[in-house]
Amino acid sequence: MVQAISLVWLLPLVAAGAGRDPADYVRLQRLSERVVLAHWIGPDRLCHLVGIQSQKGLVFIDTEMSPRITAPIKERVERAFGRTDWAYLINTHGHHAGGNGAFADIPIVAHENLAEEIQWRIDTQTDPQRKRKAIDDAAQILTALRNDLRQLGAGRTYARLMHGEIRFWELYIEDLQEGYEVVKPTLTFSDRHTLDLGDLTLELVFFGKGHSHSDILVYVPQERLLFTGAVAYQRAHLPEIGEQSHMEDVRRSLTVLDEFLDPDVAIDRVIPSHSPPLRRSDLVPIRTYYERMLAGVQAAQRQGLSLEQTSERLAQARAFRTYLEPPPGHWAYRLHERNLRNLWRICEEPSPPNQRPEATTDARAMPK
Ligand SMILES: [Zn+2]
Repeated sequence: MVQAISLVWLLPLVAAGAGRDPADYVRLQRLSERVVLAHWIGPDRLCHLVGIQSQKGLVFIDTEMSPRITAPIKERVERAFGRTDWAYLINTHGHHAGGNGAFADIPIVAHENLAEEIQWRIDTQTDPQRKRKAIDDAAQILTALRNDLRQLGAGRTYARLMHGEIRFWELYIEDLQEGYEVVKPTLTFSDRHTLDLGDLTLELVFFGKGHSHSDILVYVPQERLLFTGAVAYQRAHLPEIGEQSHMEDVRRSLTVLDEFLDPDVAIDRVIPSHSPPLRRSDLVPIRTYYERMLAGVQAAQRQGLSLEQTSERLAQARAFRTYLEPPPGHWAYRLHERNLRNLWRICEEPSPPNQRPEATTDARAMPK
């Protein structure tokens, strides 16, 4: 099996997509004169990267899995705006920093936890065994996609999406084989940071550990837009309480959601990474989930219930029916149970002397 897979990635890249301009697989959605969404196409692939133009230059939010996949998206955004004067790259969290190498020469802004979060990308390239496994895993996906396309004999629209998906993995494998630059943020912050772009300001706010250790939101008041990365994942998608989350993270998430649910804060659209644009009201169920889970677990612990009894009382099918349960195999399958276990542990932890998260506005340069 392994031999067969290894052979596949040694073969010349003669697949359907090779030879075409990779930028053809990028889809753009213009949100306004100053803002464009861009994503690499695939049958089940939606990861919005964002281009913003301002008086002080272009800003990109998030990158794809690796630089070779990110560069054509960057190029399409440059074409859309007719300029190339990049000012900043922002990462909403560590999962969306794999292509930072395509922006190695401009400031990269992110939460201070992000650098550590992407260290595995460097390790994957410096450790030969890990590198081999990463290439084999990607090659296996590629083989399955090519087989699917051959067997399905798909219609034109679906085939085009499949070619996009295939090209995506081909480029990723090329990056892994040759080695790609993993670029850590050069401007980091702990709580919040504002970027002044002349006609626009970007307000970056740490959400607390949950989906990852470094999730931030990006608010653009002049455009009445809130970019939420993977925090507001999709409509009715469960929020996350992570293995590394503490009470300060849960409380911070509630505080940040309150800030953006305040009607005095102008927001027309909420833009998640992996969903079509949402409305501000789609943030309400996220807040409700954190609030009801926290109140439920705290009450159960006060009443002396066990975790099992609490899991029964707060079962998703009973207490949180409006949130989706993805099918088995999906990364978020049984997420509610994991959230509950993590929150149980969090509520048992002694509260630190300083309950409130620090309200710093510092941003400091980190060594590259
Ligand atoms: Zn993510």
